[in-house]
Amino acid sequence: MSRIALYPGSFDPLTNGHMDILRHALMLADQIEVAIGVHAGKKPMFTAGERKEMLVSAVQSLGAEERIHISYFDGLVVDAARNIGANLLIRGLRDGTDLDYEMQMAGMNKTMMPEILTIFIPASSTVRHITATLVRQIASMGGDVTEFVPQNVNKTLSQKFSYSVSS
Ligand code: ADP
Repeated sequence: MSRIALYPGSFDPLTNGHMDILRHALMLADQIEVAIGVHAGKKPMFTAGERKEMLVSAVQSLGAEERIHISYFDGLVVDAARNIGANLLIRGLRDGTDLDYEMQMAGMNKTMMPEILTIFIPASSTVRHITATLVRQIASMGGDVTEFVPQNVNKTLSQKFSYSVSS
């Protein structure tokens, strides 16, 4: 049976934390669908198109483009999973707070879609402190986020907030 994984998230913007999860998910799944949440009512910093562009460019560094597909979803995660025939749902864990919330989600999702298995991937120690929220805050105040995001994302952030990055 082919292992098809859905990795849903906001990716606003993509961080080294997301990349770490993606890198490890490639060890578990044959195909990974990275699904960008574009729910009405949420006000992201980056448009859906910008978030996709950042992902498309960054995943090239993983050397597995034929196994990664990037798309959008605007409803339930289980519906997105059903639409692509996914049997695995990938989520990253940074700490106990993530775990408490993610356990509830995994339980609800399993009830709604018994054939899906949530896989929790622990954050590597080098990236577990990284959150997209803090990256947005730091970058918007002109701070240096080089250590927290892929190079192309850093460039996009620097253009948005008009600061310079060394390449
Ligand atoms: P969501 O709004 O669904 O939480 P995010 O883009 O913030 O969207 O996160 C998507 C997934 O990536 C989540 O499972 C989250 O736990 C995981 N993730 C985000 N940052 C990190 C990190 N630094 N280390 C490990 N996992 C992370």
